[in-house]
Amino acid sequence: MDYSYDPENIFAKILRGEIPNYTVFENDHALAFRDIQPQAKVHVLVIPKGPYVSLDHFARDASAQEQVGFMKALAAVCESEGVDAGFRAIANTRAHGVQDVPHFHLHIIGGQQLGVMLPR
Ligand code: AMP
Repeated sequence: MDYSYDPENIFAKILRGEIPNYTVFENDHALAFRDIQPQAKVHVLVIPKGPYVSLDHFARDASAQEQVGFMKALAAVCESEGVDAGFRAIANTRAHGVQDVPHFHLHIIGGQQLGVMLPR
């Protein structure tokens, strides 16, 4: 797998403070912010601060501290967004997963009934 990272992707620019974002939570290893085109009442993106292109890249190469920091950010978002009734976490990946931004991000979507995951 080619996990080469493009530092000019839009989330890298957000991390460098070059583009504004609506931050929901931040720690040493992750940033969570509202999606600019929300697909539901709650739509937050959680991203690692390190240069990882995809979920599998992050799982393979991120340090234990980065992975824990990311998961703690996810937990903080779920708590602050009040998704007690449930949510969906989506990591679109590469071409088959229709990933637009080549910096790993987890969509946290909820706040309403979401229906089935994929059309049957
Ligand atoms: P994906 O197809 O999984 O790569 O999704 C990328 C997501 O990033 C989309 O849901 C976009 O609406 C979102 N997005 C793109 N640019 C921004 C931005 N500047 N701030 C917040 N969300 C963004």
